[in-house]
This record gives sequence, C-alpha cells and structure tokens, in this order.
Amino acid sequence: MRHLISGAAGFIGSHLCDALVEQGHDVVGIDNLITGSHRNLEHLEGHPRFQLLVADVTRPLEINGPWDGVWHLASLASPKDYLNHPIETLETGSTATRIMLDAALQSNCDFLLTSTSECYGDPQVHPQVETYWGNVNPVGPRSCYDESKRFAEAMTMAYHRVHGVRTHIARIFNTYGPRMQLNDGRVVPAFLDQALRGEPLTIFGNGKQTRSFCYVSDLVDGLIRLMASEERYPVNLGNPREMTILEFAEQIRALTGAKVPLVHHALPQDDPRQRQPDITKARQVLGWEPRVALEEGLRHTVHYFKQRIEASSTAG
Ligand code: UDP
Repeated sequence: MRHLISGAAGFIGSHLCDALVEQGHDVVGIDNLITGSHRNLEHLEGHPRFQLLVADVTRPLEINGPWDGVWHLASLASPKDYLNHPIETLETGSTATRIMLDAALQSNCDFLLTSTSECYGDPQVHPQVETYWGNVNPVGPRSCYDESKRFAEAMTMAYHRVHGVRTHIARIFNTYGPRMQLNDGRVVPAFLDQALRGEPLTIFGNGKQTRSFCYVSDLVDGLIRLMASEERYPVNLGNPREMTILEFAEQIRALTGAKVPLVHHALPQDDPRQRQPDITKARQVLGWEPRVALEEGLRHTVHYFKQRIEASSTAG
C-alpha cells in the first residue's frame, strides 16, 4: 500500500510515518519544514519504502498517485506558531485540505483529516462530545486555527457528500511525546524545558484551566484505526484524564525532581478554560482507548528532551 502524508516531518506526522513504514507500507511524506524537522525523520533517511518531499502542500502537488491512503496532517499546531503565522495556518486548513482531498479523489482511496479539539473552542459542554458544535470566537486571535480546522472538516464532509470520497475526521486533543519542538510554546515542552534547565515554570493565568494529555503512540494507533474504519463523522482522539495546569506543573516537578518555583503570566486571549475528550465513540467504533499512563509517557518525553537540551548546548 502507498500512502501520502502531509506534515510528515512534524511531531505526529513523523510518528505516523514510522508506524506505516513498520507495517510494511510505502510512504511519501510532504513537509515544508516550517515547524517540522528533518531530525524527526533522520532514522528513515534512505529507507527503501520512505520518501520525503520538502514542499508546500498549499501548492499543487509535485507527485502523482495512485495512493492507497491520503493523510492530511500538515498544520501549525502550537498556539505560539499559529499566532505568528495566521495566514499560513488558514491556507493549510483550506487550500491544502482541498489539494489533499483531490489526491484522494483521483486515487479513489481513503482520506483522513487531523482536526482538533479547538473546534469546540472554549467549550460550554463538558466533557466534549462529537455532537457538540462548539463555542469559537470567529474573529479572535485563535480563530485562524479553529476556523481553518472547522473549514477543513466542512470541506472534507463536502467531498464525501459530493464525490463519495471515503473520508475520516480525527478531532485530536492535547498530545505529547518525543519530537515535540523544545521551543514551540506548548505547555508540555515549555514546562519540561524549564524544569530541566532549572527555570521557573510559567503558569498562564491562575492555572485552574484544564487539559487532558494523550501520549503520541496512543494517538497514532487511533489514527490508523480510524483510517481503517467506515466512520465518516468526526471522532475524538485523546486521553480523558483531565487535570488543571497547576496539577500538571506539580507532575512535572515531581517527575523531574526540579525544585523550581512557579511564575504566573497573563492568560492568552480565548484560552479554553476546560478540555476533556469524551471518547465513548472511539471506544465503540474503533475499539480504541489510550494505554500509556501520563507518568510513563512523560518519562519517555523527559528522556528525549534531556537529549535535545544536551545536543543544543553542545552545538551552541
Ligand atoms: N500554558 C501555560 N504555560 C505555558 C504554556 C501553556 O500555563 O508555558 C497553558 C495554556 O494557557 C493553556 C494550557 O497550558 O491553558 C495548554 O496550552 P498549550 O499551548 O499546550 O495548548 P492548547 O491546549 O492551549 O492548545
């Protein structure tokens, strides 16, 4: 089977490439390396079943099918990154989604969109179920991400309805693990980087907002199951273990042994106050649920970040 993956050099994309190559598939990845990195795929360099095209997926594809599966993962995903590149973020959700859908249409193959829990905005339903329509500020700073993914979902459903493309939509909740960028600003790399360097942990707002963190191998397993399913409507993929950001900071201090203080910074505008996936549908339709406990996933992630910090200090 031959698969096309946009965002292949990114955090989740590179783990998906590993899983599909491991399963014996041929994989062609596309990435413009705006936030992805060659480093994430260096172990696949020269692999006979893997190829990376450094290209912008908002431009017409420079490679032809036929494909057996088209996966659209490309996106800026960290608030810091998408706030710095709002137009590129919107283009990746709109133009690039259509280009990837056309590739699936031409090949008559399945298509998977990685959407987001941000479709629920600052949710007024808790935990979030797929049937909830969300509470998104359409003109706020985060709208470039939220609305681009909501548009991408609408375009995906339109290709299914109009052209009969076998589409799948994953609504991904906060995910963490090795290959996140050290400085991408998200809370997992931010706290780990700070703890490992002996710096204060930066709590935005009062830290009582909640998130639920899923380890990347669980998430990739969910994506592969979803692609193999008959499900056309969105499916939440995330770990339902919810905690406040203050509790998460405590976990990081305990795990790293860092005796660092907490400092409070302003809460970003429209920062969702609570987020927890209801994964009843994923359990029923995909037979999926996360297996990796937070403590275990964080241990792997700490190991990775320690190596990255050492490498960057040697290089610098
Ligand atoms: N956050 C924080 N300190 C940081 C980075 C993030 O307190 O250094 C908070 C952020 O305000 C949000 C939560 O942690 O409430 C998760 O933020 P992240 O950027 O990881 O992803 P989000 O879930 O907002 O997309």
